[in-house]
Amino acid sequence: MQKIYKQLVDKIGKDIVFKNEPMSKHTSFKIGGNADLFVTPNSVAQIESVINICKENDASYFVIGNGSNLLVLDGGISGVVIKMGNDFSDIQIDGQTIKAQAGALLSTLCVKVLEASLKGLEGLMGIPGTVGGAVYMNAGAYGYEIKDCLQYITVLKDGKAVDIDIKDCGMGYRTSIIKEQEMIVLEACFKLTKDDGTAMQIAKELLERRRNKQPVEYPSAGSTFKRPKEGYASRLIDEAGLKGHKVGGACVSDKHAGFIINIGDAKAKHVIELMKIVEERVYQMSGIMLEPEIKIVGHE
Ligand SMILES: Cc1cc2nc3c(=O)[nH]c(=O)nc-3n(C[C@H](O)[C@H](O)[C@H](O)COP(=O)(O)OP(=O)(O)OC[C@H]3O[C@@H](n4cnc5c(N)ncnc54)[C@H](O)[C@@H]3O)c2cc1C
Repeated sequence: MQKIYKQLVDKIGKDIVFKNEPMSKHTSFKIGGNADLFVTPNSVAQIESVINICKENDASYFVIGNGSNLLVLDGGISGVVIKMGNDFSDIQIDGQTIKAQAGALLSTLCVKVLEASLKGLEGLMGIPGTVGGAVYMNAGAYGYEIKDCLQYITVLKDGKAVDIDIKDCGMGYRTSIIKEQEMIVLEACFKLTKDDGTAMQIAKELLERRRNKQPVEYPSAGSTFKRPKEGYASRLIDEAGLKGHKVGGACVSDKHAGFIINIGDAKAKHVIELMKIVEERVYQMSGIMLEPEIKIVGHE
């Protein structure tokens, strides 16, 4: 890794290359071992340089947003973690067309479009993370999904920045083609409508609902499991009597059984063990196999 570190520093500068970076600092779960190397590029050229250096050295790389859907294992992440730098957070509003760079916070974008009297993103208010992460995951809540107001996305693919029309992005429930193909989201272009006077009220109500129903006061990565087609994961977990069930510092939230929370110094191994218990008990009770929504990365 020392050789790769040196090459990265030479190419993109030592201020944005970090060795042995604790991933617990970069995940909303506040869990995770160290990334061998962690970089925060500020331009497409810098991202390309990082990828080229990784490829030349046979090292892996992994792009993160704000780490709000991630469980990084306790052994950390081998290779290079790429997090968009501060210069990737621009948001441009031109009439009803909005361009947001991948590193911009989704919450900042939601507030900006409400201030510009536009409608379409109000249902996503309160979802933590970046625009890049939200596009990758096709983030959504309360019947809203980010895909519904996206026009196209700009991605880095095979060393080139290309625009992909949203209908070609394979957006589905918490998925998109970015998951299957090696692409980095650089920017998203949204087409919104003029606010009919309801957007702010909807955003406030949904934010309030989130605060009342979700354990936002504890570190977590949101809903641990995907919604099975038979109903809500949280209801099944609750019916299996698992609210408040703990392994180490990981606990099934009493407030919302769909969330595993970090109640203090949880390790990834605790979360994994608790997830297994939940999966087994729910399966025994209902015959339904829950599937993780959170992305588990790194090594033990
Ligand atoms: C309290 C809480 C509530 C939540 N509520 C919701 C909710 O209501 N609805 C919902 O959908 N989610 C919810 N989540 C989960 C999470 O906020 C979303 O999945 C979010 O979109 C993840 O964005 P992120 O930037 O943090 O991505 P990360 O967690 O950092 O990454 C998620 C995935 O996206 C990839 N990725 C990130 N950026 C890029 C990029 N630029 N290019 C390519 N790939 C990229 C990563 O490789 C990773 O695979 C919640 C989380 C928390 C903690």
